Amino acid sequence: MNPLSLPFLPLVRPEIDEATIAGVADVLRSGWITTGPQNQAFEAALSSFCGGRPVRTFNSGTATLEIGLRIAGVGPGDEVITTPATWVATSHVILEAGATPVFADIDPITRNIDLDLLEKAITPRTKALMPVFLAGAPVDMDRLYAIAKAHHLRVIEDAAQAFGATWHGKRIGAIGDLVSFSFHPNKNVTSIEGGALVLNNEDEAKLAQKYRLLGVTRSGHDGMDCDLQGGKFNLTDVAARVGLGQLPHLDRFTQQRRKLARAYFDGFEGGAAVKLGVGLPMRDFEHTNWHLFQITLPLERLSISRGDFMEQLKQRGIGSGVHYPPVHLFKLYRALGFKEGMFPHAERFGASTVTLPLFTQMTEEDVARVCRAVDEICTLFEIWQTCGRDVPSSDSPRRMARA
Ligand SMILES: *Cc1c(COP(=O)(O)O)cnc(C)c1O
Repeated sequence: MNPLSLPFLPLVRPEIDEATIAGVADVLRSGWITTGPQNQAFEAALSSFCGGRPVRTFNSGTATLEIGLRIAGVGPGDEVITTPATWVATSHVILEAGATPVFADIDPITRNIDLDLLEKAITPRTKALMPVFLAGAPVDMDRLYAIAKAHHLRVIEDAAQAFGATWHGKRIGAIGDLVSFSFHPNKNVTSIEGGALVLNNEDEAKLAQKYRLLGVTRSGHDGMDCDLQGGKFNLTDVAARVGLGQLPHLDRFTQQRRKLARAYFDGFEGGAAVKLGVGLPMRDFEHTNWHLFQITLPLERLSISRGDFMEQLKQRGIGSGVHYPPVHLFKLYRALGFKEGMFPHAERFGASTVTLPLFTQMTEEDVARVCRAVDEICTLFEIWQTCGRDVPSSDSPRRMARA
């Protein structure tokens, strides 16, 4: 069978049911399209999902994280400890709050922030910890909160990728301090754009609401007042309706992702890629929601360039992505004094990782196809390397197979 005749398999594709599409049309016809009853219903549904804790929505996961920092009282002069192996939003919002991002390297096995290094990075100026649950895998939550408690620190969990993940049977969001989710279309559940913050009490929820809408309150002189400088971060009812339509599917989404992750492990087992040193994620079917399935390329062993590898996947009709180049090596952060060698595990991971397709409407056959393609590409690279050939980067797979 010619692999090129198969339909293109994207890295990710959101699944939105017809009832949700019809529901969005109803909202559009209702006359009320921005923050209103749908948003209220979405917040209530999210709250019951998070064990009854108060939840407030925002128009992005980035805004949610930023408000989380403000609720935690983070401001100028404070340090916030996070990981460099994340999307830039995580560290940007620390800068936005006027605080200083302090990075701790990752554990190369979990790919999440190394909690020993996190603890070592604590100084008298540390105000909060911002762990990231990369690919939806939580850190050791017991250890994290033991550290936070011992040092009297707030925690803002960047759980953007971890909606539906659990920690020993409890949902992420139902436990912990401030928990920030994202509903970007690439995340496990989407509201097109959007995010939600899980808070500890109604006072925090009221404050979050003020930060969300310019600090305006309905009390005070002339029935309106403003006592803090909030932003404009509210979620529209159209977006909220999309999010609401996703929640009933969440458990199925997570189960399907876990099934596909298992299929990846099975598909790679004993294959050429693994033999040649391709790294697989940590096997975990209890905690993670399998937001991403990320392999690492054996860059030391095979003269593979990641760009060439991804191009080869694309020529076989398979999408892929990179999550993430380490944040501290971006220009903005280099200008703050960060440089190569500071966080070697995040740097090695960032340079070698490739994210493979994983979304709910994929089948186990699709996964098998990706595994075969990865095995085939790694074998080709090894043959080229043994022959001392330059890797033809923009050639077609068939011509290369003949070469
Ligand atoms: C997606 C993501 C964000 C930001 O969420 P947006 O909704 O895109 O603003 C923040 N942190 C991490 C780890 C993410 O994956």
